[in-house]
Amino acid sequence: MKSAVIIGGGIGGLSCAIRLAGAGVRVTLLEQQATLGGKLQRVQLGSYQFDRGPSTITMLESFAKIFKSVGRHIDDYIHFYPLTPLARNVFADGHTVDLTTSIEAMQQQIAAFAPQDAANYPQFMAEARKLYAISKKAFLHQLMLGWHDKLKPSLAVSFLQIHPFTTLQKLLLRYFKHPNTLALFGRYATYVGSSPYEAPAIFAMMASLEAEEGIYGVYGGTYEIVCGLEKLAIELGVEIHKSCRVQRIIIEHKCATGVESSAGTFQADVVVANADALTVYATMIEERHRPAMSDKKIASYEPSLSGYVVLAGVNKVYPQLLHHNVYFPPNYEQEFKQLFKEKTPLTEPTIYICYNGHDDREVAPQDSSNLFILVNAPSLPESTGFQYNGPFTESFSEQYGEHVLQMLEKRGLNDLRSSLQVQATFTPVDLHQQTGAHRGAIYGISSNRAQQTFFRPGNRAQDIDNLWFVGGTTHPGGGTPIVALSGQLVAERLLLNLH
Ligand SMILES: Cc1cc2nc3c(=O)[nH]c(=O)nc-3n(C[C@H](O)[C@H](O)[C@H](O)COP(=O)(O)OP(=O)(O)OC[C@H]3O[C@@H](n4cnc5c(N)ncnc54)[C@H](O)[C@@H]3O)c2cc1C
Repeated sequence: MKSAVIIGGGIGGLSCAIRLAGAGVRVTLLEQQATLGGKLQRVQLGSYQFDRGPSTITMLESFAKIFKSVGRHIDDYIHFYPLTPLARNVFADGHTVDLTTSIEAMQQQIAAFAPQDAANYPQFMAEARKLYAISKKAFLHQLMLGWHDKLKPSLAVSFLQIHPFTTLQKLLLRYFKHPNTLALFGRYATYVGSSPYEAPAIFAMMASLEAEEGIYGVYGGTYEIVCGLEKLAIELGVEIHKSCRVQRIIIEHKCATGVESSAGTFQADVVVANADALTVYATMIEERHRPAMSDKKIASYEPSLSGYVVLAGVNKVYPQLLHHNVYFPPNYEQEFKQLFKEKTPLTEPTIYICYNGHDDREVAPQDSSNLFILVNAPSLPESTGFQYNGPFTESFSEQYGEHVLQMLEKRGLNDLRSSLQVQATFTPVDLHQQTGAHRGAIYGISSNRAQQTFFRPGNRAQDIDNLWFVGGTTHPGGGTPIVALSGQLVAERLLLNLH
Protein backbone atom coordinates (compact mmCIF):
# COMPACT_ATOMS: atom_id res chain seq x y z
CA MET A 1 0.00 0.00 0.00
CA LYS A 2 1.43 3.33 -1.08
CA SER A 3 -1.64 5.52 -1.15
CA ALA A 4 -4.81 5.88 0.87
CA VAL A 5 -7.99 7.89 0.51
CA ILE A 6 -9.78 8.72 3.74
CA ILE A 7 -13.46 9.66 3.62
CA GLY A 8 -14.12 12.12 6.45
CA GLY A 9 -12.02 14.32 8.68
CA GLY A 10 -13.45 13.45 12.09
CA ILE A 11 -11.08 12.52 14.89
CA GLY A 12 -11.00 8.88 13.75
CA GLY A 13 -10.11 9.85 10.18
CA LEU A 14 -7.44 12.33 11.26
CA SER A 15 -5.89 9.80 13.65
CA CYS A 16 -5.64 7.24 10.84
CA ALA A 17 -4.37 9.78 8.29
CA ILE A 18 -1.59 10.95 10.60
CA ARG A 19 -0.36 7.45 11.43
CA LEU A 20 -0.32 6.43 7.75
CA ALA A 21 1.30 9.63 6.50
CA GLY A 22 3.93 9.39 9.25
CA ALA A 23 4.92 6.01 7.81
CA GLY A 24 5.30 7.37 4.29
CA VAL A 25 1.88 6.58 2.79
CA ARG A 26 0.48 9.20 0.40
CA VAL A 27 -2.76 10.17 2.15
CA THR A 28 -5.66 12.16 0.69
CA LEU A 29 -8.40 13.13 3.15
CA LEU A 30 -11.77 14.24 1.80
CA GLU A 31 -14.18 16.08 4.08
CA GLN A 32 -17.65 17.22 3.05
CA GLN A 33 -17.85 20.04 5.61
CA ALA A 34 -15.92 23.29 5.28
CA THR A 35 -13.97 22.44 8.43
CA LEU A 36 -12.46 19.27 9.86
CA GLY A 37 -13.56 17.73 13.16
CA GLY A 38 -16.81 15.97 12.21
CA LYS A 39 -19.10 16.03 15.22
CA LEU A 40 -16.66 18.32 17.01
CA GLN A 41 -17.00 21.85 15.63
CA ARG A 42 -16.27 25.36 16.86
CA VAL A 43 -19.16 27.81 16.74
CA GLN A 44 -18.60 31.54 17.14
CA LEU A 45 -21.74 33.57 17.95
CA GLY A 46 -20.79 37.24 18.33
CA SER A 47 -18.11 37.37 21.00
CA TYR A 48 -19.09 33.99 22.48
CA GLN A 49 -17.15 30.88 21.47
CA PHE A 50 -18.64 27.40 21.80
CA ASP A 51 -17.61 23.85 21.07
CA ARG A 52 -20.48 21.96 19.52
CA GLY A 53 -20.17 18.26 20.23
CA PRO A 54 -17.80 16.52 22.60
CA SER A 55 -16.77 18.30 25.77
CA THR A 56 -15.98 15.60 28.35
CA ILE A 57 -12.45 14.64 27.41
CA THR A 58 -10.99 11.53 29.02
CA MET A 59 -8.28 8.92 28.27
CA LEU A 60 -5.66 11.47 27.24
CA GLU A 61 -3.24 8.71 26.35
CA SER A 62 -5.30 7.80 23.27
CA PHE A 63 -4.78 11.33 21.90
CA ALA A 64 -1.13 11.35 22.98
CA LYS A 65 -0.60 8.08 21.08
CA ILE A 66 -1.43 9.76 17.77
CA PHE A 67 1.42 12.25 18.24
CA LYS A 68 3.84 9.74 19.74
CA SER A 69 3.29 7.35 16.81
CA VAL A 70 4.89 9.92 14.48
CA GLY A 71 7.61 11.12 16.83
CA ARG A 72 5.88 14.27 18.12
CA HIS A 73 4.70 15.36 21.53
CA ILE A 74 1.08 16.26 22.12
CA ASP A 75 2.00 19.14 24.46
CA ASP A 76 3.50 20.99 21.49
CA TYR A 77 0.09 20.98 19.78
CA ILE A 78 -2.74 20.84 22.36
CA HIS A 79 -2.90 22.26 25.87
CA PHE A 80 -5.00 20.20 28.25
CA TYR A 81 -5.71 21.00 31.89
CA PRO A 82 -7.12 18.67 34.55
CA LEU A 83 -10.47 19.49 36.12
CA THR A 84 -11.10 19.42 39.87
CA PRO A 85 -13.80 18.60 40.72
CA LEU A 86 -14.49 16.60 37.60
CA ALA A 87 -18.20 17.42 37.30
CA ARG A 88 -21.13 18.69 39.36
CA ASN A 89 -24.22 16.47 39.58
CA VAL A 90 -27.41 18.10 40.82
CA PHE A 91 -30.33 15.84 41.70
CA ALA A 92 -34.05 16.69 41.67
CA ASP A 93 -34.25 16.32 45.49
CA GLY A 94 -31.69 19.12 45.86
CA HIS A 95 -28.64 16.99 46.71
CA THR A 96 -25.40 17.58 44.86
CA VAL A 97 -22.41 15.33 44.21
CA ASP A 98 -19.22 16.88 42.87
CA LEU A 99 -17.43 13.98 41.21
CA THR A 100 -13.86 13.81 42.45
CA THR A 101 -10.94 11.44 42.37
CA SER A 102 -11.02 11.15 46.18
CA ILE A 103 -12.91 8.07 47.38
CA GLU A 104 -13.44 9.69 50.81
CA ALA A 105 -14.88 12.89 49.34
CA MET A 106 -17.24 10.85 47.19
CA GLN A 107 -18.32 8.77 50.17
CA GLN A 108 -18.98 11.87 52.25
CA GLN A 109 -21.23 13.39 49.58
CA ILE A 110 -23.16 10.19 48.84
CA ALA A 111 -23.63 9.58 52.59
CA ALA A 112 -25.69 12.78 52.76
CA PHE A 113 -28.57 10.93 51.10
CA ALA A 114 -27.59 7.22 51.12
CA PRO A 115 -25.16 6.09 53.86
CA GLN A 116 -25.19 2.44 52.74
CA ASP A 117 -24.45 3.40 49.11
CA ALA A 118 -21.55 5.50 50.39
CA ALA A 119 -20.20 2.51 52.32
CA ASN A 120 -20.36 0.36 49.17
CA TYR A 121 -18.69 2.95 46.91
CA PRO A 122 -15.11 1.60 47.33
CA GLN A 123 -16.21 -1.94 46.32
CA PHE A 124 -18.05 -0.52 43.33
CA MET A 125 -14.92 1.36 42.27
CA ALA A 126 -12.87 -1.85 42.60
CA GLU A 127 -15.32 -3.58 40.25
CA ALA A 128 -15.20 -0.62 37.83
CA ARG A 129 -11.39 -0.75 37.86
CA LYS A 130 -11.42 -4.46 37.08
CA LEU A 131 -13.84 -3.96 34.18
CA TYR A 132 -11.73 -1.14 32.76
CA ALA A 133 -8.57 -3.27 32.94
CA ILE A 134 -10.25 -6.15 31.09
CA SER A 135 -11.70 -3.80 28.55
CA LYS A 136 -8.32 -2.23 27.80
CA LYS A 137 -6.68 -5.62 27.44
CA ALA A 138 -9.36 -7.44 25.46
CA PHE A 139 -11.40 -4.92 23.50
CA LEU A 140 -10.13 -1.37 23.24
CA HIS A 141 -6.72 -2.11 21.78
CA GLN A 142 -7.68 -4.94 19.41
CA LEU A 143 -9.17 -4.84 15.94
CA MET A 144 -12.27 -6.89 15.19
CA LEU A 145 -11.92 -8.03 11.62
CA GLY A 146 -14.13 -11.07 11.47
CA TRP A 147 -15.10 -14.34 13.12
CA HIS A 148 -11.45 -15.26 13.58
CA ASP A 149 -11.04 -12.35 16.03
CA LYS A 150 -14.42 -12.82 17.65
CA LEU A 151 -13.75 -16.48 18.45
CA LYS A 152 -10.28 -16.03 19.95
CA PRO A 153 -10.08 -18.03 23.23
CA SER A 154 -8.52 -15.05 25.08
CA LEU A 155 -11.53 -12.93 24.08
CA ALA A 156 -13.93 -15.62 25.26
CA VAL A 157 -12.27 -15.65 28.70
CA SER A 158 -12.45 -11.87 29.01
CA PHE A 159 -16.02 -11.94 27.79
CA LEU A 160 -17.08 -14.21 30.63
CA GLN A 161 -15.35 -11.97 33.19
CA ILE A 162 -17.34 -8.87 32.30
CA HIS A 163 -20.90 -10.13 32.94
CA PRO A 164 -21.85 -9.57 29.25
CA PHE A 165 -25.52 -10.31 29.82
CA THR A 166 -25.94 -8.31 33.04
CA THR A 167 -27.16 -4.78 32.47
CA LEU A 168 -25.36 -1.78 33.94
CA GLN A 169 -28.40 -1.07 36.13
CA LYS A 170 -28.35 -4.62 37.53
CA LEU A 171 -24.67 -4.33 38.36
CA LEU A 172 -25.27 -0.98 40.07
CA LEU A 173 -28.09 -2.47 42.13
CA ARG A 174 -25.56 -4.84 43.71
CA TYR A 175 -23.92 -1.81 45.32
CA PHE A 176 -26.47 1.00 45.41
CA LYS A 177 -30.14 1.52 46.23
CA HIS A 178 -30.76 5.28 46.15
CA PRO A 179 -32.15 6.74 42.88
CA ASN A 180 -29.50 9.51 42.98
CA THR A 181 -26.58 7.06 43.14
CA LEU A 182 -28.15 4.82 40.50
CA ALA A 183 -28.66 7.78 38.13
CA LEU A 184 -25.16 9.17 38.83
CA PHE A 185 -23.42 5.98 37.68
CA GLY A 186 -26.15 4.76 35.30
CA ARG A 187 -25.54 7.88 33.20
CA TYR A 188 -22.29 6.30 32.01
CA ALA A 189 -24.35 4.24 29.53
CA THR A 190 -25.19 7.49 27.77
CA TYR A 191 -21.48 8.07 27.12
CA VAL A 192 -21.96 5.40 24.45
CA GLY A 193 -25.43 6.59 23.49
CA SER A 194 -27.27 3.86 25.35
CA SER A 195 -29.60 3.07 28.23
CA PRO A 196 -28.34 1.93 31.66
CA TYR A 197 -31.36 -0.38 31.79
CA GLU A 198 -30.23 -2.25 28.67
CA ALA A 199 -26.49 -1.69 28.10
CA PRO A 200 -24.07 -4.26 29.51
CA ALA A 201 -22.38 -3.85 32.90
CA ILE A 202 -18.98 -3.20 31.24
CA PHE A 203 -19.81 0.52 31.07
CA ALA A 204 -19.37 0.78 34.84
CA MET A 205 -15.70 0.99 33.78
CA MET A 206 -16.32 4.69 32.99
CA ALA A 207 -16.41 5.35 36.73
CA SER A 208 -12.81 4.17 37.01
CA LEU A 209 -11.78 5.89 33.82
CA GLU A 210 -13.16 9.27 35.00
CA ALA A 211 -12.58 9.18 38.74
CA GLU A 212 -9.10 7.67 38.48
CA GLU A 213 -7.67 9.01 35.20
CA GLY A 214 -9.51 12.33 35.32
CA ILE A 215 -11.40 14.60 32.95
CA TYR A 216 -9.59 17.35 31.04
CA GLY A 217 -10.37 20.71 29.57
CA VAL A 218 -8.53 22.17 26.59
CA TYR A 219 -7.29 25.77 26.55
CA GLY A 220 -9.00 27.54 23.65
CA GLY A 221 -11.85 24.99 23.69
CA THR A 222 -12.18 21.33 22.75
CA TYR A 223 -11.92 22.22 19.05
CA GLU A 224 -8.20 22.83 19.68
CA ILE A 225 -7.87 19.02 19.53
CA VAL A 226 -8.96 19.18 15.89
CA CYS A 227 -6.65 22.16 15.23
CA GLY A 228 -3.70 20.23 16.69
CA LEU A 229 -4.47 17.14 14.62
CA GLU A 230 -4.99 19.16 11.43
CA LYS A 231 -1.67 20.97 11.96
CA LEU A 232 0.16 17.69 12.41
CA ALA A 233 -1.56 16.10 9.39
CA ILE A 234 -0.50 19.02 7.20
CA GLU A 235 3.07 18.85 8.51
CA LEU A 236 3.17 15.19 7.51
CA GLY A 237 1.94 15.96 4.00
CA VAL A 238 -1.67 14.77 4.19
CA GLU A 239 -3.53 16.29 1.25
CA ILE A 240 -6.76 17.69 2.69
CA HIS A 241 -9.78 18.61 0.56
CA LYS A 242 -12.55 20.36 2.48
CA SER A 243 -16.09 20.91 1.18
CA CYS A 244 -15.54 17.74 -0.84
CA ARG A 245 -18.34 15.21 -0.68
CA VAL A 246 -17.70 11.59 -1.57
CA GLN A 247 -20.58 10.19 -3.58
CA ARG A 248 -19.46 6.65 -4.39
CA ILE A 249 -16.75 4.17 -3.56
CA ILE A 250 -15.37 2.70 -6.78
CA ILE A 251 -15.38 -1.10 -6.64
CA GLU A 252 -13.69 -3.25 -9.26
CA HIS A 253 -13.61 -7.02 -8.97
CA LYS A 254 -14.73 -6.85 -5.31
CA CYS A 255 -11.96 -4.42 -4.47
CA ALA A 256 -12.17 -0.71 -3.52
CA THR A 257 -9.92 1.24 -5.85
CA GLY A 258 -10.90 4.84 -5.09
CA VAL A 259 -13.79 7.23 -4.71
CA GLU A 260 -15.88 9.60 -6.79
CA SER A 261 -16.41 12.95 -5.13
CA SER A 262 -17.63 16.48 -5.77
CA ALA A 263 -13.97 17.35 -6.44
CA GLY A 264 -13.44 14.51 -8.91
CA THR A 265 -12.14 10.94 -8.79
CA PHE A 266 -9.41 9.87 -6.38
CA GLN A 267 -7.69 6.50 -6.92
CA ALA A 268 -5.83 4.80 -4.07
CA ASP A 269 -4.52 1.45 -2.90
CA VAL A 270 -6.81 1.54 0.09
CA VAL A 271 -10.00 3.40 1.05
CA VAL A 272 -10.63 4.16 4.72
CA ALA A 273 -14.09 5.41 5.61
CA ASN A 274 -14.38 7.62 8.68
CA ALA A 275 -17.91 8.69 7.75
CA ASP A 276 -20.52 6.68 9.67
CA ALA A 277 -20.05 3.07 8.49
CA LEU A 278 -23.79 2.45 8.03
CA THR A 279 -24.16 5.64 5.97
CA VAL A 280 -21.19 4.60 3.85
CA TYR A 281 -22.62 1.17 3.13
CA ALA A 282 -26.11 2.52 2.48
CA THR A 283 -25.26 5.52 0.33
CA MET A 284 -21.82 4.97 -1.23
CA ILE A 285 -21.88 1.28 -2.18
CA GLU A 286 -24.48 -0.40 -4.35
CA GLU A 287 -26.27 -3.20 -2.49
CA ARG A 288 -25.09 -5.88 -4.94
CA HIS A 289 -21.51 -5.33 -3.77
CA ARG A 290 -22.29 -5.89 -0.09
CA PRO A 291 -24.30 -9.06 0.57
CA ALA A 292 -23.03 -9.16 4.19
CA MET A 293 -24.33 -5.63 4.80
CA SER A 294 -27.64 -5.58 2.96
CA ASP A 295 -30.15 -2.75 3.45
CA LYS A 296 -32.11 -5.14 5.68
CA LYS A 297 -29.06 -5.76 7.86
CA ILE A 298 -28.42 -2.01 8.11
CA ALA A 299 -32.02 -1.45 9.22
CA SER A 300 -31.64 -4.14 11.88
CA TYR A 301 -29.08 -2.13 13.89
CA GLU A 302 -30.46 -0.03 16.71
CA PRO A 303 -28.97 3.49 16.50
CA SER A 304 -27.53 5.14 19.58
CA LEU A 305 -29.32 8.11 21.04
CA SER A 306 -28.98 11.51 19.43
CA GLY A 307 -28.77 14.94 21.01
CA TYR A 308 -30.45 18.31 21.09
CA VAL A 309 -28.17 21.27 21.78
CA VAL A 310 -28.76 24.87 22.81
CA LEU A 311 -25.77 27.20 22.65
CA ALA A 312 -26.55 30.11 24.95
CA GLY A 313 -24.39 33.20 25.42
CA VAL A 314 -25.68 35.08 28.48
CA ASN A 315 -24.56 38.34 30.09
CA LYS A 316 -24.55 36.75 33.51
CA VAL A 317 -22.29 34.42 35.49
CA TYR A 318 -23.81 31.57 37.48
CA PRO A 319 -21.55 30.82 40.42
CA GLN A 320 -23.23 27.44 40.92
CA LEU A 321 -21.86 26.16 37.58
CA LEU A 322 -18.59 24.27 37.21
CA HIS A 323 -17.03 23.29 33.88
CA HIS A 324 -19.26 20.18 33.63
CA ASN A 325 -22.73 20.16 35.19
CA VAL A 326 -25.53 17.62 35.11
CA TYR A 327 -29.10 18.31 36.26
CA PHE A 328 -30.92 15.01 36.81
CA PRO A 329 -34.73 14.75 36.53
CA PRO A 330 -36.90 13.16 39.24
CA ASN A 331 -37.58 10.05 37.13
CA TYR A 332 -34.43 8.86 35.33
CA GLU A 333 -35.96 5.64 33.98
CA GLN A 334 -38.69 7.57 32.14
CA GLU A 335 -35.96 9.25 30.02
CA PHE A 336 -34.87 5.94 28.49
CA LYS A 337 -38.43 4.72 27.89
CA GLN A 338 -39.03 7.86 25.86
CA LEU A 339 -35.68 7.66 24.05
CA PHE A 340 -35.66 4.02 23.01
CA LYS A 341 -39.25 2.75 23.25
CA GLU A 342 -41.51 5.71 22.49
CA LYS A 343 -38.79 7.53 20.50
CA THR A 344 -40.09 10.96 21.45
CA PRO A 345 -38.26 14.11 22.59
CA LEU A 346 -37.89 14.07 26.36
CA THR A 347 -40.48 15.88 28.44
CA GLU A 348 -38.25 16.09 31.50
CA PRO A 349 -34.68 15.42 30.35
CA THR A 350 -31.41 15.18 32.18
CA ILE A 351 -29.71 18.45 31.25
CA TYR A 352 -25.97 18.67 30.80
CA ILE A 353 -24.21 22.04 30.70
CA CYS A 354 -20.63 22.54 29.62
CA TYR A 355 -19.34 25.92 30.72
CA ASN A 356 -15.70 25.97 29.71
CA GLY A 357 -15.65 29.71 30.43
CA HIS A 358 -15.37 28.55 34.04
CA ASP A 359 -11.69 27.77 33.39
CA ASP A 360 -10.92 29.68 30.23
CA ARG A 361 -11.91 33.36 30.28
CA GLU A 362 -11.04 33.85 26.58
CA VAL A 363 -14.24 32.20 25.35
CA ALA A 364 -16.84 34.76 26.49
CA PRO A 365 -16.97 38.49 27.30
CA GLN A 366 -16.37 39.60 30.87
CA ASP A 367 -19.16 38.80 33.36
CA SER A 368 -20.81 36.61 30.74
CA SER A 369 -21.08 32.87 30.14
CA ASN A 370 -20.96 30.56 27.13
CA LEU A 371 -23.28 27.65 27.95
CA PHE A 372 -23.37 24.50 25.85
CA ILE A 373 -26.61 22.81 26.90
CA LEU A 374 -27.23 19.22 25.81
CA VAL A 375 -30.15 16.89 26.32
CA ASN A 376 -30.50 13.38 24.98
CA ALA A 377 -32.83 12.94 22.02
CA PRO A 378 -34.13 9.89 20.16
CA SER A 379 -32.46 8.94 16.91
CA LEU A 380 -34.37 9.84 13.76
CA PRO A 381 -37.04 7.49 12.46
CA GLU A 382 -36.08 5.01 9.81
CA SER A 383 -37.34 5.84 6.35
CA THR A 384 -36.63 4.90 2.82
CA GLY A 385 -34.22 6.84 0.66
CA PHE A 386 -32.39 8.14 3.72
CA GLN A 387 -34.56 11.24 3.89
CA TYR A 388 -35.27 11.85 7.53
CA ASN A 389 -38.00 13.81 9.21
CA GLY A 390 -38.75 13.04 12.83
CA PRO A 391 -40.16 15.45 15.36
CA PHE A 392 -37.40 18.06 15.18
CA THR A 393 -38.94 20.56 12.80
CA GLU A 394 -37.66 24.14 12.96
CA SER A 395 -40.60 25.44 14.99
CA PHE A 396 -40.53 22.48 17.37
CA SER A 397 -36.80 22.96 17.88
CA GLU A 398 -37.34 26.58 18.92
CA GLN A 399 -40.13 25.69 21.37
CA TYR A 400 -38.09 22.83 22.78
CA GLY A 401 -35.14 25.14 23.41
CA GLU A 402 -37.46 27.43 25.36
CA HIS A 403 -38.67 24.42 27.38
CA VAL A 404 -35.10 23.35 28.24
CA LEU A 405 -34.10 26.87 29.32
CA GLN A 406 -37.25 27.16 31.41
CA MET A 407 -36.41 23.91 33.15
CA LEU A 408 -32.96 25.25 33.99
CA GLU A 409 -34.50 28.43 35.43
CA LYS A 410 -36.61 26.23 37.69
CA ARG A 411 -33.38 24.53 38.82
CA GLY A 412 -31.88 27.86 39.90
CA LEU A 413 -30.34 29.37 36.75
CA ASN A 414 -32.39 32.50 37.28
CA ASP A 415 -33.21 34.86 34.41
CA LEU A 416 -31.51 32.61 31.89
CA ARG A 417 -33.84 33.57 29.06
CA SER A 418 -33.85 37.29 29.78
CA SER A 419 -30.00 37.28 29.91
CA LEU A 420 -29.57 35.72 26.48
CA GLN A 421 -27.29 37.66 24.12
CA VAL A 422 -26.80 34.96 21.47
CA GLN A 423 -28.44 31.60 20.95
CA ALA A 424 -28.41 28.70 18.49
CA THR A 425 -29.96 25.24 18.52
CA PHE A 426 -28.86 21.99 16.87
CA THR A 427 -31.07 18.98 16.43
CA PRO A 428 -30.61 15.33 15.39
CA VAL A 429 -31.55 16.43 11.87
CA ASP A 430 -28.60 18.89 11.81
CA LEU A 431 -26.29 16.16 13.07
CA HIS A 432 -27.45 13.83 10.33
CA GLN A 433 -27.23 16.44 7.58
CA GLN A 434 -23.89 17.96 8.59
CA THR A 435 -21.89 14.86 9.52
CA GLY A 436 -23.75 12.04 7.76
CA ALA A 437 -24.54 10.41 11.13
CA HIS A 438 -26.86 7.47 10.43
CA ARG A 439 -30.31 8.48 11.71
CA GLY A 440 -28.66 11.36 13.59
CA ALA A 441 -27.12 8.96 16.11
CA ILE A 442 -24.22 10.45 18.07
CA TYR A 443 -22.37 7.20 18.74
CA GLY A 444 -23.33 5.14 15.67
CA ILE A 445 -25.12 2.03 16.84
CA SER A 446 -26.34 1.72 20.42
CA SER A 447 -24.73 -0.58 22.96
CA ASN A 448 -28.08 -1.70 24.31
CA ARG A 449 -27.45 -5.24 23.17
CA ALA A 450 -24.33 -7.29 23.96
CA GLN A 451 -24.04 -8.17 20.25
CA GLN A 452 -23.98 -4.48 19.25
CA THR A 453 -21.58 -3.59 22.05
CA PHE A 454 -18.91 -6.16 21.42
CA PHE A 455 -19.37 -7.01 17.74
CA ARG A 456 -19.87 -3.75 15.93
CA PRO A 457 -19.66 -3.52 12.10
CA GLY A 458 -16.09 -4.65 11.40
CA ASN A 459 -13.13 -2.38 10.69
CA ARG A 460 -12.60 -4.24 7.41
CA ALA A 461 -15.44 -4.64 4.88
CA GLN A 462 -16.44 -8.27 4.62
CA ASP A 463 -17.24 -8.39 0.92
CA ILE A 464 -14.92 -5.73 -0.46
CA ASP A 465 -11.13 -5.81 -0.35
CA ASN A 466 -9.13 -2.71 0.57
CA LEU A 467 -12.08 -0.99 2.25
CA TRP A 468 -11.67 -0.21 5.94
CA PHE A 469 -13.64 1.66 8.58
CA VAL A 470 -12.65 3.87 11.48
CA GLY A 471 -14.87 5.91 13.82
CA GLY A 472 -17.76 5.58 16.20
CA THR A 473 -20.00 3.09 14.42
CA THR A 474 -17.26 0.53 13.99
CA HIS A 475 -15.02 -1.13 16.60
CA PRO A 476 -14.08 -0.26 19.38
CA GLY A 477 -16.95 2.30 19.48
CA GLY A 478 -17.92 5.95 19.93
CA GLY A 479 -16.48 8.80 21.98
CA THR A 480 -13.46 10.91 21.05
CA PRO A 481 -10.69 8.84 22.67
CA ILE A 482 -12.13 5.58 21.34
CA VAL A 483 -12.42 6.79 17.74
CA ALA A 484 -8.84 8.09 18.03
CA LEU A 485 -7.85 4.54 18.95
CA SER A 486 -9.79 3.03 16.05
CA GLY A 487 -7.84 5.26 13.62
CA GLN A 488 -4.55 4.10 15.09
CA LEU A 489 -5.51 0.41 15.14
CA VAL A 490 -6.60 0.39 11.50
CA ALA A 491 -3.52 2.32 10.36
CA GLU A 492 -1.20 -0.03 12.24
CA ARG A 493 -2.83 -3.04 10.59
CA LEU A 494 -2.60 -1.45 7.14
CA LEU A 495 1.06 -0.66 7.68
CA LEU A 496 1.81 -4.32 8.31
CA ASN A 497 1.07 -4.89 4.61
CA LEU A 498 3.34 -2.01 3.62
CA HIS A 499 6.48 -3.38 5.19
C1 LIG B 1 -23.60 16.70 20.99
C2 LIG B 1 -22.47 15.72 21.13
C3 LIG B 1 -21.84 15.55 22.36
C4 LIG B 1 -20.79 14.64 22.49
N1 LIG B 1 -20.15 14.54 23.70
C5 LIG B 1 -19.02 13.80 23.79
C6 LIG B 1 -18.18 13.90 24.94
O1 LIG B 1 -18.48 14.65 25.86
N2 LIG B 1 -17.05 13.15 24.97
C7 LIG B 1 -16.68 12.35 23.92
O2 LIG B 1 -15.61 11.73 23.99
N3 LIG B 1 -17.45 12.24 22.81
C8 LIG B 1 -18.60 12.95 22.72
N4 LIG B 1 -19.35 12.93 21.57
C9 LIG B 1 -19.05 11.91 20.55
C10 LIG B 1 -17.88 12.27 19.67
O3 LIG B 1 -18.06 13.56 19.16
C11 LIG B 1 -17.79 11.28 18.54
O4 LIG B 1 -17.77 9.94 19.02
C12 LIG B 1 -16.56 11.48 17.69
O5 LIG B 1 -16.24 12.82 17.51
C13 LIG B 1 -16.81 10.80 16.37
O6 LIG B 1 -15.68 10.88 15.57
P1 LIG B 1 -15.60 10.02 14.24
O7 LIG B 1 -14.19 10.06 13.81
O8 LIG B 1 -16.22 8.70 14.44
O9 LIG B 1 -16.50 10.69 13.16
P2 LIG B 1 -17.27 12.02 12.85
O10 LIG B 1 -16.95 13.07 13.83
O11 LIG B 1 -18.68 11.67 12.64
O12 LIG B 1 -16.61 12.41 11.46
C14 LIG B 1 -16.97 11.81 10.27
C15 LIG B 1 -16.67 12.81 9.17
O13 LIG B 1 -17.01 12.24 7.91
C16 LIG B 1 -17.53 13.30 7.13
N5 LIG B 1 -18.32 12.73 6.03
C17 LIG B 1 -19.50 12.06 6.13
N6 LIG B 1 -19.94 11.73 4.91
C18 LIG B 1 -19.02 12.19 4.03
C19 LIG B 1 -18.94 12.18 2.61
N7 LIG B 1 -19.88 11.62 1.84
N8 LIG B 1 -17.86 12.76 2.02
C20 LIG B 1 -16.90 13.35 2.77
N9 LIG B 1 -16.95 13.42 4.12
C21 LIG B 1 -17.99 12.83 4.74
C22 LIG B 1 -18.38 14.09 8.10
O14 LIG B 1 -18.67 15.38 7.64
C23 LIG B 1 -17.48 14.09 9.32
O15 LIG B 1 -16.61 15.18 9.33
C24 LIG B 1 -20.38 13.85 21.39
C25 LIG B 1 -20.99 14.04 20.15
C26 LIG B 1 -22.02 14.97 20.02
C27 LIG B 1 -22.65 15.18 18.66
